[in-house]
Amino acid sequence: MWDYLSMSTKVVTRFAPSPTGFMHIGGVRTALFAYLLARKHAGTFILRIEDTDKEREVPGSIEHIMESLRWLGIDWDYGPDKPGPWGSTIQSERLETYLPFAQKLIEKGYAYADPYTKEEVDGFREKSKAENKPFLFRDYRPEHTPGGEPGKPLRFKVPEIKRSVWEDAVRGTLEAGPEALDDFILIKSDGYPTYNFAHIIDDHLMGITHILRTDEFISSTPKFLSLYEALGIERPVIATLPPILRDDRTKKLGKRDGAKDTLDYRTEGYLPEAMINFLALIGWNPGTEQEKFTKEDLISSFSLDRVHRAGAVFNQEKLDWLNKQYLLLMSEIDKESYIKKYLPEGYRDKNISRLVPIIVERIEKGSDVKEMAENGELDFYF
Ligand code: GLU
Repeated sequence: MWDYLSMSTKVVTRFAPSPTGFMHIGGVRTALFAYLLARKHAGTFILRIEDTDKEREVPGSIEHIMESLRWLGIDWDYGPDKPGPWGSTIQSERLETYLPFAQKLIEKGYAYADPYTKEEVDGFREKSKAENKPFLFRDYRPEHTPGGEPGKPLRFKVPEIKRSVWEDAVRGTLEAGPEALDDFILIKSDGYPTYNFAHIIDDHLMGITHILRTDEFISSTPKFLSLYEALGIERPVIATLPPILRDDRTKKLGKRDGAKDTLDYRTEGYLPEAMINFLALIGWNPGTEQEKFTKEDLISSFSLDRVHRAGAVFNQEKLDWLNKQYLLLMSEIDKESYIKKYLPEGYRDKNISRLVPIIVERIEKGSDVKEMAENGELDFYF
């Protein structure tokens, strides 16, 4: 098997969220795995903000992402607050970085200005549909390739239409037919690069050795491979993490199934130690019966070859159980101040010291304390 981690190269990983407001629990799991891999190999972990889709951006998201990661103790070596030798880690602050690479593609004849209006492209789409074939932009590629033109999207001209075969560090050999290759947009008409283009350049310039991300990017990977080739860039190792599934395994975990914003877990009283422990076990295990792991344990035992291929279940009961285990480990004083944070107004100034063991026994997380108070369950003890 190919050596995914040649120890002579420094491991550099990144978490590259788009600042769209919500810090899904799945995103944090990706961040954690990338972080653990970097820390395990004494490498570098980068937090990169992919904000080139200005329409989807939600103000305040960057702060929100940083706060979520900080809460969990996932610290970064370079991030929005710590530029690296390559400059900012916020893509919108690096727009001029992408231009020479676009220029190189134009010069090689691998990029062209898309001359069509939206209506014309819709027309092509209709035409393909009527002919019963998949819509591929390359079937309508203009004959002449005039290069970049301001105000017109710059498209990649896939140099060679072929079958793609690649190694994924988790999934093994993956393949896709030539229909997976198309002339995708590199730079949009607003001047911002697409994710497809910008992430490849940034991964290259930031020296990323391992890309960890979930399976929604598998279908685009042939396009990325074609671009690496056209640019003469060596591609990082790609490791596809398993999707997070609902308890009943029927679907990916969505917002309605409890995929909350990460900071909502903090509000409910989940402890960061429990959360990290829980997230690490979604799609990875050390091959032993061990269930409780500190961050340090995780760093030393994490490895890509124990990341699962199949979807991994989000088990709320397990999270609650783990939270309780970490709660029980707290000192009596810490337990008391933890409980107090969740007691409603009227109870907060009461002396609860003698009740701490009773309350802790009955709860799994802070919000349960609030519920006990609201249900009148605590009144009995006061
Ligand atoms: N910006 C992408 C996202 O938020 C990141 C994908 C990647 O890690 O390459 O989904």
